[in-house]
Amino acid sequence: MKRRQKSRAWHREHTEDEFVRRARRQGYRSRAVFKLEELDRKDRLLRPGMCVVDLGAAPGAWSQYAGARLQGRGRIIAVDILPMEPLPGVEVIQGDFTEQALLEQLLRRLGGEPVDLVISDMAPNISGIHVADQAKAIYLAELALDFARQTLRPGGGLLLKTFQGEGFPALQAEMRRHFDRLVCRKPRASRPKSREVYLVGKGRVSV
Ligand code: SAM
Repeated sequence: MKRRQKSRAWHREHTEDEFVRRARRQGYRSRAVFKLEELDRKDRLLRPGMCVVDLGAAPGAWSQYAGARLQGRGRIIAVDILPMEPLPGVEVIQGDFTEQALLEQLLRRLGGEPVDLVISDMAPNISGIHVADQAKAIYLAELALDFARQTLRPGGGLLLKTFQGEGFPALQAEMRRHFDRLVCRKPRASRPKSREVYLVGKGRVSV
């Protein structure tokens, strides 16, 4: 397919998508909100009063949804390498989560407050070279898990986007060690042809 045709095909698929239209109608910044909504409904992730860290947050639909669920009580810190338009009640930190300086900035911002829930929708820019893309995706998921282990209160939860393939079984096994309950879900809004899945760990245990 030529570039212009490819771009038209992408545009058609994107604009005709049921979830894109619903997101626009409901004032959400992206269709990703319906993944979190489904996971929250099934796994009861968000409650008022929680301290939530949203990794890979831009353009901000997950933070918007979390803000509504927290009902003005609690705290949301959103991190992304890209700029993100401000949202009421959401603290935004722009930077690369793979960098130590960003991690330190985030830890300073938390100021020792235990986190109740880490949600990570981070995904690398897809290069098209499958092995490299998969390795980067697993690396981001491992960093999110490390961060959760460092900051979650006992009993806290982690929602992690990742991709099935090389490194996935090891990541799942590692998650299982750190949480009482672990489920792997493919929300309806996740495109069927994508290898994307979400791991939900609840009840963090110290190991
Ligand atoms: N959950 C978001 C929402 O509801 O709007 C959509 C997230 S989008 C699928 C993935 C995000 O991960 C992108 O905004 C991207 O910039 C971010 N990302 C990828 N690598 C990152 C990194 N190293 N550090 C911080 N953010 C990263």
